[in-house]
Amino acid sequence: MSLTLNDITLTYPDGEGRLTALDQVTLDVPRGSLTAVAGPSGSGKSSLLAVAATLISPDAGTVTVDGTPTTGMTRRQLTDLRRHKIGIVFQQPNLLPSLTAAEQLQVMADIDGRSPAKARARAMDLLDTVGLADHAHRRPHRLSGGQRQRVNIARALMNGPTILLVDEPTSALDHERGAAIIELITSLTHERGTATILVTHDRTHLTAADQIVEIHDGRLHLPAPAC
Ligand code: ADP
Ligand code: MG
Repeated sequence: MSLTLNDITLTYPDGEGRLTALDQVTLDVPRGSLTAVAGPSGSGKSSLLAVAATLISPDAGTVTVDGTPTTGMTRRQLTDLRRHKIGIVFQQPNLLPSLTAAEQLQVMADIDGRSPAKARARAMDLLDTVGLADHAHRRPHRLSGGQRQRVNIARALMNGPTILLVDEPTSALDHERGAAIIELITSLTHERGTATILVTHDRTHLTAADQIVEIHDGRLHLPAPAC
């Protein structure tokens, strides 16, 4: 198992009380497989990804990455873990306007102290993988929404993560472009052997998943069989 959430409960302050965003969530995501998490807005999908990414520590329960429980790790250890093992694709690409597609990726390697030539070669290789070899020199304003999302995905893969966490990557795209993005995430998962969680509120994107779970009010369920 590459990523395991065990009995996770997460609450946020809410007026006088607490709101339970994740309620005893348990989920195993093996390497090389795609788990889709479907659920309506406000059901806890982004919270689940934030906990899996070790960006938020839960009130209770354990996140285990490559067999190592993350509970009790220092901030620094968690930052290191995220940098080397976890690729995160947020809902909005958040690309830097002044950087070309290749530079958006290279920045990740600079943080990691890799040599510029190696970083550039890896960035070009990944842009090729996501179908953007010819757009490496373009800045975000000269890329379409779908292309920006591809850069976002390539950037998350820059440091060779074993875990890939993707939050509603198609919400700003039309159906056809959205489907192509899901296809890309699926093939990257199988080729690179990542343990991938894909969050979506669009059920038509679930067919490619190896495992589908639904979340309602912070509780995970197996989906109801299709009628
Ligand atoms: P989803 O991604 O499925 O839309 P979220 O995980 O963003 O759901 O939110 C789950 C619940 O937690 C919602 O009720 C939301 O309002 C609440 N919530 C999310 N983030 C915070 C926060 N930082 N502080 C307080 N409540 C939050
Ligand atoms: Mg969300």
